[in-house]
Amino acid sequence: MPIKVLATEVVSKIAAGEVVERPASVVKELIENSLDAGAMEIVVEAQGGGVELIKVSDNGTGIPFSELELAFHRYATSKIGNLDDLEKISSLGFRGEALPSIAAVAEVAISSQTSSETIGSYLHLRKGEVVRRESRARPQGTTVTVHRLFRYFPARLKFLKSVNTENSHIAHLASQYALAFPEVKFNLVLDKRQSLHTTGNGDLREAVSEMYGSELAQRMLKVEQNDTLLKVGGLVSLPSVARSNRNYLSFFVNRRWVHSPLLTRATEEAYRGLLKDGQHPIAVINISLPGQELDLNIHPAKVQIKFCQEQAVFAIVKKAIEVALARTPIASPKAVPFSVSSGQWQSPRMIMDNEPAFVVAQLPTLELPLLRVLGQLANTYIIAEGPDGLYLIDQHAAHERILYDRILAQWSQKEVEVQGLLQPITIELSPREEETLKASKESLAEFGFTIEPFGNRSYLIRTMPALMARANIIEIIIVLLDSLAGKEGPTPWEERIAQSLACHGAIRAGQQLNNDEIRELIKQLEQTKQPRTCPHGRPTMIHLTSHQLEKEFGRIS
Ligand code: ADP
Ligand code: MG
Repeated sequence: MPIKVLATEVVSKIAAGEVVERPASVVKELIENSLDAGAMEIVVEAQGGGVELIKVSDNGTGIPFSELELAFHRYATSKIGNLDDLEKISSLGFRGEALPSIAAVAEVAISSQTSSETIGSYLHLRKGEVVRRESRARPQGTTVTVHRLFRYFPARLKFLKSVNTENSHIAHLASQYALAFPEVKFNLVLDKRQSLHTTGNGDLREAVSEMYGSELAQRMLKVEQNDTLLKVGGLVSLPSVARSNRNYLSFFVNRRWVHSPLLTRATEEAYRGLLKDGQHPIAVINISLPGQELDLNIHPAKVQIKFCQEQAVFAIVKKAIEVALARTPIASPKAVPFSVSSGQWQSPRMIMDNEPAFVVAQLPTLELPLLRVLGQLANTYIIAEGPDGLYLIDQHAAHERILYDRILAQWSQKEVEVQGLLQPITIELSPREEETLKASKESLAEFGFTIEPFGNRSYLIRTMPALMARANIIEIIIVLLDSLAGKEGPTPWEERIAQSLACHGAIRAGQQLNNDEIRELIKQLEQTKQPRTCPHGRPTMIHLTSHQLEKEFGRIS
């Protein structure tokens, strides 16, 4: 279809508005245009977080010379023509707004050539106006170059985060499209460094392997379900490989990358009971259903969608994942032995089980009274008796507090105990994780991590904090990168690192502890500055006072 300006009646029906929020939004629109043009190969380059330069080249159909300028008019599109088309959109774009919106906030050059033209064409626009127009030879396809994004929009520039954060948004976005289109060869170059490269051989598992590493990809389970309403396909992780946030959930509806709370819930419901609290699966889910079952026209960025039959979609997707999970025997998460070097906690203040009394005179200096351990409940809570009643202590939260304080203390005194690994551990990072690592390498080094590049988004971990010796190092690095990614929030980075380390290094709920271990834990908790809360602010313990007990039992009124 040739490019035409949409009729007003159609324009009035589309969710119009600003699409260029940050550099990654430009990348998104340009990649979508390339995909809509049937490109089999897309190269994305960005410099300076995309503010200096964004360049997207494709080998798609190209734009004829006669239409090139029109492509920069608002509501000019070749993808829909009338109201009926709006009902059954099969392209990623349809609003004819991206190119003009980008040209309004940056300097844009475009070169393009179709298969029927003998020479290509080139346009250069400044402030939305064409400043240069010429014929230029090039292979079939289109290249859009965006320079100096938001240069004349200081308010927008101010809103952007660091170069690394913007790069990580771009990397994440390109990764999503590479997952959605495994048959397209993607190449992402950030600040002249190759960040992502997919083969475009059409195999989803291979695309996932490019993104998250081959080990993980090999172990993912295939989802496949054909229902009359919709088709569900994709790959999901085994419950033993979870992540601590939802960044690893990718949903594509009719090949469009979408943010869908409904699909997120359906996926997580399928894992119910298989993952611990706060853990999330890794999933790449493709859904296809008839266009009329879907409303895409909700927000200009088109990442939000609405299913007409929400309940049915929810049920089918959940079921499809459940079936995939049921096909494999589920290994229960391995219990990590809780070992403590002996002698470390020897203390004259420690009260043994068989010592019945409290030495009340020793209490006032401590925030936490001396406790006598009575036992462990549900392998999760420690039951202890204090001078004023009963204490139920969450073993994970308590250990988290202990580790957190120690880690931060070691860090602030520049005395982080480091443990070298006899055999360096190799970790494969996603493009986004790699960007975060580059930005936080020094911070991680201060906490005892030595991580060296090993080519092709692989890294070698050579040292780690000694306090983390019991934990799964790869998992920790991924969690740390997640917690450091793109967030420049109120919590200082060192606290974020300490929180993640403490959480992952701490003994888990469900782990059986012997009496010595419990006593050591309590002893160490007593020595922390805030024994009653974990680093996230949740309570480490519940205290039932003697008075409360007496009241509950009706001994007093
Ligand atoms: P939309 O994608 O909503 O149609 P855009 O402003 O993104 O609007 O693009 C306008 C038109 O320019 C598209 O409809 C398409 O015809 C053409 N176009 C843009 N980018 C490309 C590309 N990379 N290859 C071929 N045609 C393109
Ligand atoms: Mg578009």
